[in-house]
Amino acid sequence: MNDNFQHKGLRKKLVETVKKKGIQSERVLNALNSVPRHLFMDSSFVHFSYADQAFPIGAGQTISQPYTVAFQTELLELKPLEKVLEVGTGSGYQAAVLVEMGVKVFTIERHRELFLKAQSTLNSLGYKPEFFYGDGYKGLPSFAPFDKILITAGATEVPSDLLDQLKIGGILVVPLGDRKSQTMVKLVKESEDKFTRTEHGSFVFVPLLKGKIG
Ligand code: SAM
Repeated sequence: MNDNFQHKGLRKKLVETVKKKGIQSERVLNALNSVPRHLFMDSSFVHFSYADQAFPIGAGQTISQPYTVAFQTELLELKPLEKVLEVGTGSGYQAAVLVEMGVKVFTIERHRELFLKAQSTLNSLGYKPEFFYGDGYKGLPSFAPFDKILITAGATEVPSDLLDQLKIGGILVVPLGDRKSQTMVKLVKESEDKFTRTEHGSFVFVPLLKGKIG
């Protein structure tokens, strides 16, 4: 896999851009600096890989904007070795950033084509999250509870199964809204049925959809 000086230089600039936009966590910035984003996108997009933009990855889906990836990761307040569920593997880029943060990653994708591609990309780069092909609405009950849950698609509601699968004291981050725009919401689970909710600005994601596509 080719990750040359040009790529590394462009990545450093991208990290500076993301920092200027407000990301403060050095751990998150270091993780972003470590992941070769160009290898998660089709070769025709290689020149755009280090622009702070979302890009198509096939199946009508996108790799999230690096700032958004950093923003959601920062909101999770990750501690080493925590168990983290990511809903929406997509290209696998966010999963790689999470692995770089030193946590145990479980990632689930509803599109079989993307699931297979992300698995191959991440494995070839030595990233070893646990991969699942399925409906993230239902989470992964047999691997619960999770310290943190990250939803990387726009949801109209927070799936109740995911709330159940979060540890007490855990954090769930979800873009919540309609198809046009979502508010980044952070939920902290205070007790089995009590959550503290904070809002963190507007974003636009592809939708979180039920079921899986083979
Ligand atoms: N995290 C991804 C990355 O780093 O490339 C970007 C995710 S993309 C914005 C959203 C992804 O969520 C898409 O790949 C989509 O297929 C997936 N998705 C939507 N609904 C889902 C569901 N119910 N379960 C699992 N994945 C879902």
